[in-house]
Amino acid sequence: LNSSNGKSGELPPVDRSARTLTDGSPVTNDHREISPATGQQKGYVVLSEEERTKGFVRPVRRTYTHKVCGTDTTMSLSIAETYARDPGFYSGTFCVHCATHKPLSEFVWKGTTEQVGS
Ligand SMILES: [Zn+2]
Repeated sequence: LNSSNGKSGELPPVDRSARTLTDGSPVTNDHREISPATGQQKGYVVLSEEERTKGFVRPVRRTYTHKVCGTDTTMSLSIAETYARDPGFYSGTFCVHCATHKPLSEFVWKGTTEQVGS
């Protein structure tokens, strides 16, 4: 973790095994199945609510911009809080315009040049 922000050093380390789906339900084996209608997964894994309440190392940001198409996508609060607690938790994310998942290197937080997941 980056300790230069002066906050992360005071927080307990992230327990990535503390996982649920976005609604708090247990992670299912088929959560990665893609819905043909939306291109989104059946479910998305997040850090558990208990794990998220241990503290954030980044601000909670809900909306990111896909640099390739310029479209903003807003995610659920539990995913946004997972990024804030553990910026490296995900490797890719969804764009509502492209209707598919892309690597985080293609996304910045809305209104910034800061890459999502950094
Ligand atoms: Zn896009």
